[in-house]
Amino acid sequence: MEAEQRLLALLGRSVGLTRAQLARELGLSKATMSGLVGDLLARGAVIEAEPSAGGVGRPGTMVRLTGPDRAFAVLRWSGHHLWSTLSDFGGGMLARQFGEGPVDLDQTELLADVAAELAELHRLADRDPAHTLGVVLAVPAPFQPGVGMPRPGPSAWAAKPEESPMWAHAGWLSTDPVPALEDLLGVPVIAENDANLAALGEATAQGLDSLAYLKVTPNTIGMGIVLSGRIHRGANGFAGELAHLQADPQGPLCYCGGRGCLRGLLGPALLDAVRPAYQRDITFQDVLTLAAAGEPGPRRILGDLGLTIGRALADFCTLLNPAAIVVDGSLGAAGEIVARSVRESINRHSAPQAAAAVKVLCGELGDSAEVTGALALLRQPQHPSRTS
Ligand SMILES: [Zn+2]
Repeated sequence: MEAEQRLLALLGRSVGLTRAQLARELGLSKATMSGLVGDLLARGAVIEAEPSAGGVGRPGTMVRLTGPDRAFAVLRWSGHHLWSTLSDFGGGMLARQFGEGPVDLDQTELLADVAAELAELHRLADRDPAHTLGVVLAVPAPFQPGVGMPRPGPSAWAAKPEESPMWAHAGWLSTDPVPALEDLLGVPVIAENDANLAALGEATAQGLDSLAYLKVTPNTIGMGIVLSGRIHRGANGFAGELAHLQADPQGPLCYCGGRGCLRGLLGPALLDAVRPAYQRDITFQDVLTLAAAGEPGPRRILGDLGLTIGRALADFCTLLNPAAIVVDGSLGAAGEIVARSVRESINRHSAPQAAAAVKVLCGELGDSAEVTGALALLRQPQHPSRTS
């Protein structure tokens, strides 16, 4: 009954699908689907109902599972904080948490943290964990299923992987943590780069088929790419690693093994550039707030950052002809300063046809872009890390 299991799994991560949609998603004939749904209806495992008023674009009678709505959890890190949410498949938020959560953990610590976080989400939402269908980890680094963080070469650190400078960044990515998490939690786990999830979230929310999403954090910049409605991960999960573009061939070594990476101009270096003018300690959030309030210095810093990124994005636009570049909506008003400079660089350096086609926008979803992206990803039938 493999087809029935696939059908039940697909229904479990939807709020209802028509028989035609189910047949298409699973690659089955309408007659076969009709037989499968008929059996499940007879056993009371599913019901058929008209779509709710919000079901725009999904006409027809929908098949859905009986029983309580299924839920999924998303965990993501930002700086030294961990955000976690429990949502239903209609996009409703059941519980959310925000607290201290360092990302520089080893895998044993990660497993314990994720299990504790999930237990707390279920307690807050007063939900039975048995109704949670899966967990999505928004990974704050490039991620390759079966590997963890992609290696810079076949033999790099093969003898002593613990000495890699990459593991000081996030030791739990020295191998793929998904199998151990699935064993511990007893549910499917998907690990996906956080900027990729946010890119898919904004693409879904804004109805865009192809875009690049800039995720700006206090320490670095990430980029997610969506092409033809799907995340583009590249050959080993390194696609969109904007922070590792070479900004200075003579610059300092980066933990990725490259030299003079753009990352070196961000985080502490960016704050060092601002601090002398204010002669006090200053945070990245201070820079955003001051820029949004009209302070010329921080505006200039963010504008220059946009010009630098925009130079690389200009070539990206010429080569891939995306519909949009979306700047992290969680930056608030300061995001518009970055977006304007990116636009300026693209106008100056892209082929005019590509520049004319691309919109430069601020994200609509703010810090919920990853959760929307996780939902969109769960609804897609195949993901490289999904085993079921
Ligand atoms: Zn680098």
